[in-house]
Amino acid sequence: MYKFFKFSMPIGIAGIVLSLILFATNLYYEWVIPVFERSMEDGPAFSAIDHLTYYTPLIIASLFVAYIVSGQIYIKKHHEKVEEKVTEKVIEKNEKIQKELDAKAEFFKHKYYTNCPKCGAPREENKSECSFCGASLIIEGSKDNKS
Ligand SMILES: [Zn+2]
Repeated sequence: MYKFFKFSMPIGIAGIVLSLILFATNLYYEWVIPVFERSMEDGPAFSAIDHLTYYTPLIIASLFVAYIVSGQIYIKKHHEKVEEKVTEKVIEKNEKIQKELDAKAEFFKHKYYTNCPKCGAPREENKSECSFCGASLIIEGSKDNKS
């Protein structure tokens, strides 16, 4: 769908110009009408076709106008969608970074026992819980001494 509308502006303008040239020069009319003149007698049917043929380039031109307008609308919506997706990704990424920073900030708020007060196992780097028994290694009250 995007490919169909991608070049709707230049194609549409070219189409309109060609249609208007056909209309102004009466070329299309001169090409087509003799075919009907040979095969039909005068009558309401012929005069209807005569009119239709005369205005066909204008009808085609208006179709090209519709093509341009719908193309512009579609492309605008398409770009908005792409933009929305990119924005969503950036927000997602920022949230992830923020969470990591929050976790780090939370970690550095506390002081930690170097050995587990419960089982005596040494604290692993960047862990706030004993990796052996799961007990908290936070020294209580250290939260309040932060500068
Ligand atoms: Zn422990």
